[in-house]
Amino acid sequence: MDKRTVLVLGGGTGGLVAASVLRRELAPEDRVVLVERSPKHTFWPSVLWLMSGSRRAEQVQRDLLPVARRGIEVRHGDITEIDPERRRIVVDGDMLAGDALVVALGATLVPERVPGLAEAGGNFYTVEGAMRIHDQISNLQRGRVAVLVADVPFKCPAAPYEAAMLLESLLRRHHVRDETTVTVYAAEPAPMAVAGPAVSQGVVEVIGRRGIDYRPSTKVTRVDPAAKRLYFDSGQEADFDVLAVVPPHAAPEAVRNSPLAGPNGWIAIDPATCETRFANVFAIGDVTTVPLKLGKPLPKAGVFAGGQAEVVAHTLAARLRGRGREQRFDGHGECFIEMGGGVAGFARGNFYAEPVPQVQMFRAGRHWHAAKVAYERNWWRSWF
Ligand SMILES: Cc1cc2nc3c(=O)[nH]c(=O)nc-3n(C[C@H](O)[C@H](O)[C@H](O)COP(=O)(O)OP(=O)(O)OC[C@H]3O[C@@H](n4cnc5c(N)ncnc54)[C@H](O)[C@@H]3O)c2cc1C
Repeated sequence: MDKRTVLVLGGGTGGLVAASVLRRELAPEDRVVLVERSPKHTFWPSVLWLMSGSRRAEQVQRDLLPVARRGIEVRHGDITEIDPERRRIVVDGDMLAGDALVVALGATLVPERVPGLAEAGGNFYTVEGAMRIHDQISNLQRGRVAVLVADVPFKCPAAPYEAAMLLESLLRRHHVRDETTVTVYAAEPAPMAVAGPAVSQGVVEVIGRRGIDYRPSTKVTRVDPAAKRLYFDSGQEADFDVLAVVPPHAAPEAVRNSPLAGPNGWIAIDPATCETRFANVFAIGDVTTVPLKLGKPLPKAGVFAGGQAEVVAHTLAARLRGRGREQRFDGHGECFIEMGGGVAGFARGNFYAEPVPQVQMFRAGRHWHAAKVAYERNWWRSWF
């Protein structure tokens, strides 16, 4: 049989899992090419711990070299064009072609969409930003901490609420909690709303118990970085001393400029197979949009990117090599909710359930925090 080539676009959560499972499931002579602009892979769930000071940068990021040693061809470079009809891409001016494409390019952060936001800093969705916030909080004696969700959609629906609780916990550890305030200003009407009202209410209660002020449906329109002031669409304003931001997200430029892009730039896929409207071109993770019956899309989260990656890898092994069966993604997902002080909550459920997702929130405790630590350890052990 001819040698097959699968191009995996993006070496983040979904791309790494897809390439690794493909390598295992395809024939040894087949090529699995992983194209990634960054030399390092980041385990994003641990970045919140980087911000709260319980991890160092080298513990949340690893070089992709061990992945290459396992027989995955890692190509470092910038993907500038995607031609799904011919299953070709352009990487730093070179054209690569495959029998199948797996697009896992994630979401791009676009703080520049809000005037002043990029200049104000405080973006904890980057490793550098998370580290800077840690330093700022560590030096804070008194003042206002603002956790800002600038727009929807954003990846990891729990992250801003976890960030607020972890920072609040850090302020307590530094004995400055009485001199500080923590406020979450969120462009969304409720936390983790796709998971249902019980989960939303649960999150509102736990942050309330920690004295964190919550302002939902509050969308920032502009930031004055010099005056350290936020301006909202309601006409209200708020001052801050430390800012922790979830910036607006957009589909990556190469996707937006390709025939794969839907109306908002994100890629529409078959919810079960993850195939796009182009044969043997799949898309997984944050770069996709999957509408749910309740009128909101499937959240952008690593747990879904990884689950979809496994499905697509097995499907391609079946199609290209006749190995095993094509698989279907069933919409199950789970998430830890870090609350500080070594305590976490946990939510799990079926996001494809109709008419609304069926998600259960479990009682918070130290065991869920321990489970997240085990999940982190298992991630590095499984894929590196
Ligand atoms: C602070 C934080 C905490 C989080 N915690 C959790 C959690 O606890 N649980 C959970 O499920 N999810 C969590 N998430 C969300 C999770 O990280 C993402 O949903 C997940 O990484 C999505 O995977 P992906 O493969 O779609 O995209 P990504 O992991 O973002 O990967 C996309 C990759 O494509 C590369 N790329 C993009 N454009 C190009 C280009 N033009 N050329 C070459 N390469 C390119 C990028 O460099 C990147 O490596 C968290 C996110 C953050 C920021």
